[in-house]
Order: sequence, then structure tokens, then C-alpha cells
Amino acid sequence: MQLSKRILTLTDGGSDGWDVYRRARSMAEAGHPVIELTIGDHDVPTDPAILDAMHAAALDGSVGYPIVPGLPELRDAIAARVQARTGAPTTRDNVVIMPGGQGALFSAEAATCDHGDTALFVEPYYATYPGSIRGVGATPVPVPALPEHDFQPQASTILAAARETGARSLLINTPHNPTGVVYTMKTLRGIADVCKATGMWLISDEVYDTQVWDGAHLSPRALPGMAERTLVIGSMSKSHAMTGSRIGWIVGPEEAVEHLINLSTHTTYGLPAYIQEAALFALQEGAELEAEITGRFRHRRALALEVLSKSNRIHTVPSHGAMYLMLDIRATGLSGEDFANLLLDEEEIGVMPGESFGRTAAGHVRIALTVDEAVLEDALRRLVAFAERLAHAA
Ligand code: PMP
Repeated sequence: MQLSKRILTLTDGGSDGWDVYRRARSMAEAGHPVIELTIGDHDVPTDPAILDAMHAAALDGSVGYPIVPGLPELRDAIAARVQARTGAPTTRDNVVIMPGGQGALFSAEAATCDHGDTALFVEPYYATYPGSIRGVGATPVPVPALPEHDFQPQASTILAAARETGARSLLINTPHNPTGVVYTMKTLRGIADVCKATGMWLISDEVYDTQVWDGAHLSPRALPGMAERTLVIGSMSKSHAMTGSRIGWIVGPEEAVEHLINLSTHTTYGLPAYIQEAALFALQEGAELEAEITGRFRHRRALALEVLSKSNRIHTVPSHGAMYLMLDIRATGLSGEDFANLLLDEEEIGVMPGESFGRTAAGHVRIALTVDEAVLEDALRRLVAFAERLAHAA
């Protein structure tokens, strides 16, 4: 029996640079005291009040087939939140509930690309991006964002890639995983101009929109002429520590949302209503717990920057958002992969090599701020000392 080429080629099959993560995991499972700063898995559990709301909704009968686009009250709450946070007029008809940001990404690519089309995405990138594009039969083409530009994608590079490939869409992410970079207004305006000039859709992954450490979140959908060509990916995984509840959404033009609802009917048939009710509860009642989660990451980040500032060998990529820091370790003479492997062997600290996010992040490593402060501080002090030793050994 032959599987489809589409599924067989979903991942590109090469070494994906995730070996360090897998090795750190198996060392931890074998009982080594490994500190894992690898993947962005929230260490904060979903608040019991949200789980109580979920439980009560289920006991109360919200266990049948859900309404496919999502509970009207939840779509209203998300629309109001998006409008308040970005200034872009938004109603329930602009919102469709999706199984997590990941489900939303796949659906957004499906909605904008036909088989054989090209879709652009910015490199370095979140691991699933190319596979989500391949999964809908399109060809993923990376647009490099370089360290010398502080990982801000340049309009001229995007325009050249769009013209060369005739791409149907561009996928961006701000605040950005893996670098923590928040795109500036200048970057977003440049992106918007290219999308308008070329007729490309913009898919804007904003799942870290509550993790902006300086300034406010900027959504390109709010820029002139962009609401009709932008699909925003949103999620409660990061903002409300609800990763396992798989609650996400797409905000876009009404016509696109109507068709995305058809897509949901033929794929997921919606999200469990008891989870949607818990999400509604969290949006309506959860300002305090949301602030508590954000505050925790803000604090950890400040602590990490303080420790890292002591190093002459490690340069922290200037960043303003998300729960990651990208460290430029090129001064040690090692690749990100070699640095990460040695750090794991010698210090039992797991970090992600920049190379696992694409070539443009080579010579970097990413740390996730997903362990508690004392552990984070200890790990980073040892990481700084390790980089120092490498430099002396060289
Ligand atoms: N986009 C980015 C940039 C992410 O980092 C993640 C998860 N780590 C997602 C989307 C998917 O998030 P979820 O499906 O949990 O909403």
C-alpha cells in the first residue's frame, strides 16, 4: 500500500537539529539532573479555576457536538479582545475557533494556497511551519531574517522572494519564536506594503501577543488595507497556560472565515464545548491569572538578561517578547549544535541549537525561560562560565 506523497514528505526527512533536545530528554528520563531549557513547554499548569469551569461545563451537559465555528459568546469575547488590543475593528464574524494555534496555522495555509503554490515563511522559524505548508500541498520557501538585522525581516528580501516565486502567502510570527524579537512598526509596514503590492496573503502568528516586555503588541492586521488580506493566528496556550486544551483561533475577513468554517466542518468538526466554555471563563474572569503568568516570564527574563550581561563571549540577541532568549555564541568559535552538545555533556544543561530553526540562526542557541528562577539562574551562570572556559581553551 502506498501512502500519499504529501504525507510522506511532510517533514523533509533530514537531520532536524532536534537531537540535542531528544538526548537531553533521554538523559533526564535516565535520572540525570538535566536542566532543560529546550522546548517552549509552559511549566505553569492551567489554573484550577479554569479547570473547574471546564468540569462544571461538562457536567452541565456541554458534551455533545459543538457549534463548528465556536460558541458565539467565545467568538464575541475574542473579537472584543483583539479589537481592544490591536485597534482593528473585529466582530464575531471575523473569528473562527480552531484546535490550537497549530490547527489554525494548517487551516490558514489550506485557505490561502492551492496544490503546487508557493508559501513564504521567515527563517529562523517555528519548527512546524514548513511542514504545515507542505501538508496542504504547497512549497515552503524561507525568507531569511539575519542576525545583522537583529532578525527583523527586510521588505526588499520579501519582495524579491515574492516576485521570484509568485508566492500566495507570507507567514510571519511576532513576538517571535525562536528569537524573542518583536517586529517593529517599520518592519510591519514594510511587510504590509509588500503584501499589498504583490497580492499576497499575510498569515500573522501572534500566539505570543501577551508576552511583549517593552511597548505594546503590534498587529499588522491593524495597518491600512491589511484587514482584508491578513489571517491572524491566536491561541490561549501561552497567555493562559492552556497548551493541552488546544484552544486557538483565526481572525480574518468575513468571507475567509466563512470558508474556514467549511474547512472545520470537514476536518475537526469544532472544539469540545466544555473546553470552549472554560476558555470563555478564562477570558472573562482570568485577567489576574493571565497577568500572573506574564509577570512570571517577565521576571525570569530580567533575571536571565542580568546573568548573561556578565559574559563577554555570549551576546544576547536584542529582544522584546516571547519566552525565549537567543544567544549569539559565535565568539566561542563553535556552531550552535556543537555548543549545545558540549554544554549537555559537560554541564547537563539542554538548550536548542540555532540551526534547528534554520540556517540564519547558525552559531546561536535558544534558551526557553520555562524553568523556575533559581534553576534558571544556576543554569545560566554555569552556561556563562562554560562559554568562558571554551574561549580560554581555544
Ligand atoms: N506558533 C508558534 C510560534 C509557537 O511557538 C507555537 C507553540 N509553541 C504555536 C504556534 C502553536 O501553539 P498552540 O498550537 O499550542 O496554540
